[in-house]
Amino acid sequence: MTPNSSTQPKTDLLALTLPQLQQWLKERGEAPFRAKQLFNWLYRQLENDFSAMSNLPLSLRERLAEEACIGPTIIRSELHSKDDRTRKILLELSDGKLVESVLMLYPPIGDSSSRATVCVSSQAGCAYGCTFCATGQMGFDRHLSAGEIVAQVLFFARELRKEPWTAAGLPGTAAIDHITNIVLMGMGEPLHNYTNVLQALRILNSSDGFNLGARHMTVSTVGLVPAIRKLSQENLQVNLAISLHAPTDELRSQTMPVNRKYPLSELMAACKDYIASTRRQVTFEYVLLSGVNDTMEYGQKLAELLAPLKQFAHVNCIPVNVTTASYQTPGPDAIRAFRNILFEHGISNSVRAERGDDIAAACGQLRTRFENSRKKTELPVVTP
Ligand code: SAH
Ligand code: SF4
Repeated sequence: MTPNSSTQPKTDLLALTLPQLQQWLKERGEAPFRAKQLFNWLYRQLENDFSAMSNLPLSLRERLAEEACIGPTIIRSELHSKDDRTRKILLELSDGKLVESVLMLYPPIGDSSSRATVCVSSQAGCAYGCTFCATGQMGFDRHLSAGEIVAQVLFFARELRKEPWTAAGLPGTAAIDHITNIVLMGMGEPLHNYTNVLQALRILNSSDGFNLGARHMTVSTVGLVPAIRKLSQENLQVNLAISLHAPTDELRSQTMPVNRKYPLSELMAACKDYIASTRRQVTFEYVLLSGVNDTMEYGQKLAELLAPLKQFAHVNCIPVNVTTASYQTPGPDAIRAFRNILFEHGISNSVRAERGDDIAAACGQLRTRFENSRKKTELPVVTP
């Protein structure tokens, strides 16, 4: 909600499901079919200007401009990596808070076609204080509304629609002009903002609108046990990723304070139940901190911890993106050795390719850099 001239807060249409939009229009004396038309403009045409919605009567367009808005629109900074496969924006919310969103573009590999994945923020800041995470070091500001979450995806969707992307050096490959995946791996803890995150996912999933399949959405969590249990009961087939990062309580509590509240025994029990009720694989993210959690001993312990989940566990090894002097990224030999232990125990695993280093890619880094420079001079708004 943002204030308008009559001091009434404006309704952010991106926060509403289609039935809620129908209700909102009904309260204003409009016919129900107008909601579908409007939804179509927002999510199929990706329009963000009411005056361009040509099949709506002028009086309705004027009323919408007066009483509603289409998400936050101020982009404080937009950076593209040198290879243009990673793009990052800093979005300013109506109260001046700043959040980051990233678009990651992947060329086709083998049988799989190109992908365009948006990494979305769910909160301004984060309350969980993981020691390796730039966002965690900021503290918690506030939850994002569903509309503020949806807006991040639409920003990049519009950009790709306007200018489809083809990987440089791969002539002949089809250009990609739409978002194929979203991951809630930006700033904040999505399951701490459960209601708004689920609302945003349902809006983006709606077949009358953006129509992104739930299987193309991933929720990443620090391990909030009650919320994981709740998610397993939702009628939404999203992917679940657990930020594990250590296989023992002692080590995990050192880097992730949340482990004192929800220790590994409770977290693993929740994952087991999640798998039993959804029959879906769970990804375990494991940030590799050189000399801290990447030793052979911890590799062995990790394999033992996940063995009971069998083929339902996949480990994603993530060489840490250095945000403080306290941690270092392991070299390729150490990464290979760690992964080999997992393979030897039959644990499927992959390694996340580093990307976008030249644009401060780890979550929270751009805002930190921006705020440090803002102390010296106010940066301009990049696009209206
Ligand atoms: N709060 C959620 C989602 C946001 S963080 C969570 O913690 O899962 C998304 C992922 O990035 C998490 O796995 C997180 O641990 C990881 N991450 C945080 N800081 C990082 C860094 N400096 N380098 C690499 N990965 C990092
Ligand atoms: Fe928060 Fe996730 Fe960062 Fe931990 S890793 S501080 S939960 S955003």
